[in-house]
Amino acid sequence: MSYQIALIKGDGIGPEIVESAVCVLDRIAEKHHLTFSYQSYLAGGCAIDATGEPLPQSTVDGCLAADSVLLGAVGGPKWDTLPGNIRPERALLGLRSALGLYTNLRPARLYPALKDACPLRADIVAKGFDLLMVRELTGGIYFGERGRREGKFGPEAWDTEAYSVMEVERIARAALSAARKRRKSVISIDKANVLETSRLWRETVHRVAEEYPDVTVEDMLVDNAAMQLVRNPSRFDVVVTSNMFGDILSDEASQISGSIGLLPSASLGEGKRGLYEPIHGSAPDIAGQNKANPLATILSASMMLRYAFDLDEAANEIESAVDACLADGCRTADIADTNTEKILSCSEMTEEVVRRL
Ligand code: NAD
Repeated sequence: MSYQIALIKGDGIGPEIVESAVCVLDRIAEKHHLTFSYQSYLAGGCAIDATGEPLPQSTVDGCLAADSVLLGAVGGPKWDTLPGNIRPERALLGLRSALGLYTNLRPARLYPALKDACPLRADIVAKGFDLLMVRELTGGIYFGERGRREGKFGPEAWDTEAYSVMEVERIARAALSAARKRRKSVISIDKANVLETSRLWRETVHRVAEEYPDVTVEDMLVDNAAMQLVRNPSRFDVVVTSNMFGDILSDEASQISGSIGLLPSASLGEGKRGLYEPIHGSAPDIAGQNKANPLATILSASMMLRYAFDLDEAANEIESAVDACLADGCRTADIADTNTEKILSCSEMTEEVVRRL
């Protein structure tokens, strides 16, 4: 089989970490007799420097023509003072909208080898956790009508949350399908004791769930979910929730896992193509120094194999290789501790992963 992958290296550490992921993909291609062909496109600050805009049309066209997109990170101090409409981050919003990406998948898990970096209590850490946040990305209160007006007590502001049945159905399907590739359990998070959108959300999720009799679905109120994530994260497998609740809870989930340099993400739309990227930014403070932790981007490539190409076995192999590296004590500077004998560079960590594949 052959797959076309659009690469957006972006700014800061972006080029280094995308190169690392490509090394790992090449090893997988060799092992499984696959062909990955790569085409690089500009987005973010480097695109502003080269073309005057953060997301050139050629990048959008290239991504639409590819089977999937792997992105490093965009942005940096050089472009921080530009007006909002030509900031590097506009490229991310533009890509989401051009590719019709309405689902965000963020796994968060505890690596036993890094348990000391977890801020939770030892008895909770001992149980471990491995969850997948599925966040609706293009609807809800972030995209609803809003405004300012004169109210009873003077000037006031208002925002509205609206969700259509169609929007909830498609995110529910994304979560239920993802659960089938995991432990077959979905917890749907809402605020159905207060919000009408949540009541529609809840009834729609359960109706769609009838199509997935092998997956169990439970509801949880968002306030309880925020507590359970720190008290008992091991009870979560797949979590599905709205844009705003997902924004907040996915950051909480990434914090409890202890290291930003390890967390991948995927944004999906209709069909198989998606945008795969680490959750961290362009780390300008260490850019160009071969110090970045490449694991979040390598794991993003593994998500791409799983969700875009249905290559679950290859994805499992990458994840096991990363687990093995960490268990064997391989550490880049961001995850090193007092027991670390040698701090690895970005390229050395990449070699360690490739060696275990
Ligand atoms: P950041 O994630 O880039 O960095 C925060 C800290 O984490 C820094 O100390 C950095 O060195 C460290 N870090 C991040 N990734 C690392 C890795 N892989 N290995 C080792 N250390 C790592 O966040 P920031 O400093 O707030 O933002 C820097 C720039 O990135 C800004 O311009 C911001 O807008 C942009 N940004 C881009 C994205 C994206 O492209 N998706 C996301 C967040 C921030």
